[in-house]
Amino acid sequence: MDNPLDRAPGGYFSISESGFVQSVNRTFLDMLGLQHAEELIGRHLESVMSVTNKMFFHTYFYPHIQLYGRVDEMYFSFRTADKQSVPVLLNGMRREQGGEIVIDCVALLMRKRLEYEKDTLRSKLALEELYKETQELNGRLELLHVEYEQKQQELMEMNRQLETLASTDPLTGLYNRRFFQERLRKELISCSDNGSPLSLLILDIDHFKKINDTYGHPIGDFVLTDLARLLREETGIPGICARFGGEEFVVLLPGLDRSAAAAAAERIRGAIEASTLGSQRVTVSIGVETSADDSTEESLLHRADLALYASKTGGRNRVTHAQDLPEQEPHI
Ligand code: GH3
Ligand code: MG
Ligand code: MG
Repeated sequence: MDNPLDRAPGGYFSISESGFVQSVNRTFLDMLGLQHAEELIGRHLESVMSVTNKMFFHTYFYPHIQLYGRVDEMYFSFRTADKQSVPVLLNGMRREQGGEIVIDCVALLMRKRLEYEKDTLRSKLALEELYKETQELNGRLELLHVEYEQKQQELMEMNRQLETLASTDPLTGLYNRRFFQERLRKELISCSDNGSPLSLLILDIDHFKKINDTYGHPIGDFVLTDLARLLREETGIPGICARFGGEEFVVLLPGLDRSAAAAAAERIRGAIEASTLGSQRVTVSIGVETSADDSTEESLLHRADLALYASKTGGRNRVTHAQDLPEQEPHI
């Protein structure tokens, strides 16, 4: 071929209707690694195709060009003499020349594009793999998160249980002395802040030693347990009952003034006297104190204790309010 198309940046060839090569440009020969046009002209185009590609050419190219007169952008592969594949994008057009059918074809090398496509595919696969791994990791992270939440809940529950244990008297289930002291401190602050009274009761079972000595320690324990339950029932909310130690109990009554506290103590005393507790009848002596402006935790406890002592010495099974005691002479 002796014209500018010979070295065009794309392969050109024409074939007869039966597939014999009639003309070819230099670029196409170079693509197939051929030296001379004679190596192809006059030969069948299938001589530069693999068996599979021949079949593809037969089933797609020929019927299409017969039917529509052209083939556009067909992905195809020629084969060099040393069996190297030459991927191309092939366009073909059918025309008539002097009563003969000629098929002009243009073939553009596809190597780079295929490499790009392979790269894109590789990147896509790598991305998919990465996405899968991320999904898996996210799943595991979610599981860990759920586990962490559960452990956190368990820990909080354990802390709650520990707190309860640390603040509870094991025999009676009432608050213990440690908790009570802390509560007394808080209630005193809160009552003095809002100007309301705070009353404190100390109860001591009368002649309790005799019950232990007569019926045994376990019966004594039943008495303590039953008395604690009754105390809680009689006190009601917002009173706070605690076991102060041994057979002594304390009750905090926020908001109750002197007479209301004395009345509550009397009601509790009466209820205990009227009940059978641990199959025994017992009585209690009670000392009461109600806060004043200068009250402290110590002064409340001390004066309630003085009142309790007065109840004991006064004959037991009775209530004494500290403010009914005769004024003590201050020590000099
Ligand atoms: P008073 O009327 O003066 O209070 O006489 P009391 O016998 O109650 O007082 P005392 O202090 O002499 O005795 C208290 C008894 O309480 C002695 C002790 O063994 C008993 N006690 C203390 N704690 C417990 C306990 O947890 N269980 C039992 N069963 N007895 C207890
Ligand atoms: Mg006692
Ligand atoms: Mg006692």
